[in-house]
Amino acid sequence: MQSTARVVIIGGGVMGIGLLYSLVEEGWTDTVLVEKGELTSGSTWHAAGQCPSFIANYNLAKVHAFSNDLYARLEAMTGEATGWHATGGIRFAMNQLELDHFKRVEGVAANIGFRMQVISPEEIRRINPFVTTEGVLAGAWTLDDGYVDPSSACNAMATAAKRKGGTIVRRNRVLGIERLPGGDFRVSTEQGDITCEHVVNAAGCYADRVSAWLGVQTSYANMKHQYVVTGPVKEFLDRDGEIPVMRDPYCSSYYRQEQKSGLIGIYENSETEEAWREQGGPAWDSENELFPAQLDRLMPFLERVMDRMPIFAEAGIKKVVNGAISHTPDSNPLVGPAPGVRNFWLATGTGIGIAQGPGCGKYLAQWMVHGDAEINMAGMDPRRYGEFCDQDYASAKAHREYWDMYRLIPPGEERPEGRPAKSTPLDPVLVAKGCVFTEGFGWERPKWFSATGPDEDETFRRTNAHPVVAEECRAVRERIGIMELPGFTRHEVSGPDAEALLNRVCANRMPKRTGGIILAHALSDGGRFITEFTITRMAEDRFLLLSGASAYHRDQDLLHRAIREGEDVTIDNVTDDWTTLIVAGPRTRDVLAGLTSADLSSASFPWLTAQEITLAGRPVRALRVNYVGELGWELHCRMADAVAVYEAIWKAGEPFGIADFGLYAMNSLRLEKSYAGLGVELTNEITPVEANMLRFVKLDHEFRGKAAVEKVLASGATTHLVTVKVDAVDFDIAGGEPVFAGERVVGVTTSGGYGHATGLSLGFAYVDSGFDATGTKLEIMLLGDRRAAEVIPASVYDPDNLRLRA
Ligand SMILES: Cc1cc2nc3c(=O)[nH]c(=O)nc-3n(C[C@H](O)[C@H](O)[C@H](O)COP(=O)(O)OP(=O)(O)OC[C@H]3O[C@@H](n4cnc5c(N)ncnc54)[C@H](O)[C@@H]3O)c2cc1C
Repeated sequence: MQSTARVVIIGGGVMGIGLLYSLVEEGWTDTVLVEKGELTSGSTWHAAGQCPSFIANYNLAKVHAFSNDLYARLEAMTGEATGWHATGGIRFAMNQLELDHFKRVEGVAANIGFRMQVISPEEIRRINPFVTTEGVLAGAWTLDDGYVDPSSACNAMATAAKRKGGTIVRRNRVLGIERLPGGDFRVSTEQGDITCEHVVNAAGCYADRVSAWLGVQTSYANMKHQYVVTGPVKEFLDRDGEIPVMRDPYCSSYYRQEQKSGLIGIYENSETEEAWREQGGPAWDSENELFPAQLDRLMPFLERVMDRMPIFAEAGIKKVVNGAISHTPDSNPLVGPAPGVRNFWLATGTGIGIAQGPGCGKYLAQWMVHGDAEINMAGMDPRRYGEFCDQDYASAKAHREYWDMYRLIPPGEERPEGRPAKSTPLDPVLVAKGCVFTEGFGWERPKWFSATGPDEDETFRRTNAHPVVAEECRAVRERIGIMELPGFTRHEVSGPDAEALLNRVCANRMPKRTGGIILAHALSDGGRFITEFTITRMAEDRFLLLSGASAYHRDQDLLHRAIREGEDVTIDNVTDDWTTLIVAGPRTRDVLAGLTSADLSSASFPWLTAQEITLAGRPVRALRVNYVGELGWELHCRMADAVAVYEAIWKAGEPFGIADFGLYAMNSLRLEKSYAGLGVELTNEITPVEANMLRFVKLDHEFRGKAAVEKVLASGATTHLVTVKVDAVDFDIAGGEPVFAGERVVGVTTSGGYGHATGLSLGFAYVDSGFDATGTKLEIMLLGDRRAAEVIPASVYDPDNLRLRA
């Protein structure tokens, strides 16, 4: 076996093989995949092989689309059978919410290009004459998917990868990984050591243990999933052709033809025991392992399947497959850099890896080879989790995800599992005021304040929260609003070389004066967004960096890795010590003035400056910035002071009509100001040129990604971020909807909502060149309905920022 390689992939399941395939396609042929048993002998071999293209997440839908495309052509490419059955699939809607969901996915399909039709129960029965459709409102019929034989398809991918230079070493367990002083890794295996530049953990149910060798926490739950295969079904024997893969919320099941038998897989929504938990994980010599059948757990669901497909009832059960499956807390895979260890990557954590493996491999390979993927990877990036995502948290969330596999989660639903992972002393105060929380990187954050309980209408349309949020927005626009937003990632960067470091990392220049604040973006070598900082110069050689909660690991790694040898810089992550109170609205100065001796006038405390002041007797870092477009301050105080500061402001604010507000209101308010969001509008696919963020890029200094930005500037962007208003009825832009000019799809929305102060349904979209001018008339597909839309100037509310500067 070779002793050096550019990349070592640990694990020969569909995730590892899918990555190997794409890495060699990208030209990184010096890649070795090491598998302890035979290829696919982990979870992959026993999978049922279904590959749905019906996915509401725009980026994951692209992952699935690539897998389906590759499976369909793999046999012709390699000459090896893959068992690809292009049966298509039908998913049932049993209520209006699910039907609306279909319409949303139809929009994703129109964008990505997979075929999908919403069909009637009669049409469902025409396509599958054996199914009963009682209670079914409609079906989502996807025509470009099907199922594959996982082992054959993986072996075909492996053959294709080997032909182009990739290497696979089977029957060779990786025993450990060590980081060498120069930055390379030593991967110790049963057959010797390999020194390499990159390591990818694609170890499936063993991934947590492989990560632990490098001190990395990788949290998911190892669970069990079962499907049954019936005996031969007479009606299948009597006909050619196959029924589509059926996906049915009524029985929380999928069912299809397996040759002339039936195959039925169940996501039982009852307590599932975790595979191997009692032994601390699978044994290293576990191979092609199945667990004993647990039919009793499936019975209530199987009975329902028999209602649906009475022809299965006579066939009897021939085989039960009970196999290991891993699930993450949000059911998305873990694909991307591991936190804290440069060039250590994850390609794991998928509960539907057959559908996702090749696609994940494609985009991870792009990321590794080119520095960025061409799709937004934020939802798959392993760094979306932090230490809070320990085994208990991951397990609680993952189980809920598993049970809810076929239950549509309404957009406003908050599920309690694993919560609260992180809370602040103020939370009980806010709970008493009717605060409905949502989770961000483990933190509980106010979403809206309800006088009638936490439940929101189960709909994609505007809910009972809508009028309440309107009042929260009115308070901020007309009086004063207050909101605690904990979890900002906070780094203090100090030392003689701090400024040089930050100027190198950021496309903007550091503020010159102490107390100055800038918005700054760190870009990749390709000039695309990595992160967004609000940077305050606290002293000559000390800067405070604030960024989004989920940027915690990303920013920490980014900053530490940017330090050059010999530079004198200290970087402290002080995230957990502080919380933030956002106070905004035209009466803010009047309210705060009574609580501090600091002069809050614009002359002494202008917009985009910060001061360390005493407020309500507590030390507070007051930043005159906000994300809602009003006179206001972000007040950063110590966790222990949060209640005192909040209560003092509340008391002083009562005569002025102070109100609590939450993230729903903030979304409405920021849309009226066209404030783009990191990970949504500003992503790893996009440079500041496309995002119209050049005002935050200073090309007169050297920074990472500058050459790439200049290149895009010279050649001209082909897609452009625009603000749109849409003629919505009761459903606003949610993101991922197609934008049409006539019959042509010319763009995609990223986020949206209702602007309560302006009375406009607003959103962001990336549109092709030629469709970005103000006044361009477009159409946006909202819940299956094409609604008139128009490109409008950015910042429809207070475009000159007069209120911010007041
Ligand atoms: C009953 C059942 C049905 C399913 N049906 C479907 C379906 O229809 N569609 C779908 O998309 N998904 C399905 N799945 C899920 C699918 O099987 C998994 O998501 C997928 O196989 C995960 O692939 P993986 O590559 O991450 O993991 P694995 O296939 O487990 O691969 C990991 C590999 O790493 C190797 N490894 C681990 N540690 C080491 C080490 N130290 N050294 C060397 N090698 C190591 C293991 O031996 C293993 O081969 C199903 C799962 C089950 C249980």
